[in-house]
Amino acid sequence: QLEEAYRRAEEFLRSHHRFLLLTHVHPDGDALGSVLGMASVLKHLGKEVVVAHEEPMPERFSYLPGIGEVRPVDEVTDVFPAAVSVDCADLRRLGKAAEKLTAETRLLNVDHHVTNDRFGTENLVDPYASASCQIVSELAKHLGVPLAGETAICLYTGLFTDTGGFRYSNTSSAVLRLAAEMIDGGLDPYPIALQAVETVTEKQLRLLVAALDGLRTAAKGKIAYLAVTRQMMEETGTGVEDTQELVNYARNLAGVEVGVMFREEGDNEIKVSLRAKYEVNVSQIAAQFGGGGHPRAAGCTVQGPLDKAIRQVLDAVAAQVGQG
Ligand code: 5GP
Ligand code: MN
Ligand code: MN
Repeated sequence: QLEEAYRRAEEFLRSHHRFLLLTHVHPDGDALGSVLGMASVLKHLGKEVVVAHEEPMPERFSYLPGIGEVRPVDEVTDVFPAAVSVDCADLRRLGKAAEKLTAETRLLNVDHHVTNDRFGTENLVDPYASASCQIVSELAKHLGVPLAGETAICLYTGLFTDTGGFRYSNTSSAVLRLAAEMIDGGLDPYPIALQAVETVTEKQLRLLVAALDGLRTAAKGKIAYLAVTRQMMEETGTGVEDTQELVNYARNLAGVEVGVMFREEGDNEIKVSLRAKYEVNVSQIAAQFGGGGHPRAAGCTVQGPLDKAIRQVLDAVAAQVGQG
């Protein structure tokens, strides 16, 4: 069945000439790695591609080949008969880019979220894949495109970041084999690790200090949570892309089963990130609030104010860690 999905995706990519490529809002390493990796694969096949996104690209990923050619969504006015979405579980997560899809657009949905709602006209969804970059890598093999050079830099980035540097529960022999294959093909993994995850800016450290100051536990120490307020972000001069690692400090605390980060967004909107260590399925908790994700890493957006959001979400999490 998955083989059939690969075959259909391959057919889709071969049968169109020009593609609009999209990924989710607040893009992470897997989102950017898979969208730029897909662009690189398609260029190998002689196709034309436009990658469009509504936000500026995060500084951390400026080493990714092709990132300078990502176009602001508003500047893309032409109509595309074919589009590919990567690392995105539902249309809402595409943000404003979804407006570029017309009723006539054929859309290939390439993703690894269990909560993916199969919004594409073609869907290549494998929840067992560690990263969307793993699926794009397999597609590249189907298409006869080598996992080397710029393609490998992009795709390795997502394998590395979505597994937390090959540490998270989604680390598999398959993803390690793919990574090894890329390194055998000439890829240098160290500069990618250094830039994608090891490097922190001073303002990110200041934000970490402020956020950790407010770290609290609940449910007899099985939940740890922290909040990133707009004031903290203003005072440290940080943006959304500087907050992504913070939730791990809550999850990593000894004895904690679920770590939660709350971030104040627009008026009355709170972004919630959930991370679990073992049993708890946080994608189910996120789904209760209209979000989604993976069993051990998920997210959602809930209504503010902050204290109300914290109470609601902690209640839902506490019910799952057996302290409700
Ligand atoms: P993060 O907490 O880093 O934003 O996201 C963790 C995981 O959950 C990612 O795989 C991300 O794609 C997914 N996720 C985060 N927020 C949402 C959301 O609002 N809706 C859905 N469907 N998935 C989300
Ligand atoms: Mn992602
Ligand atoms: Mn991913």
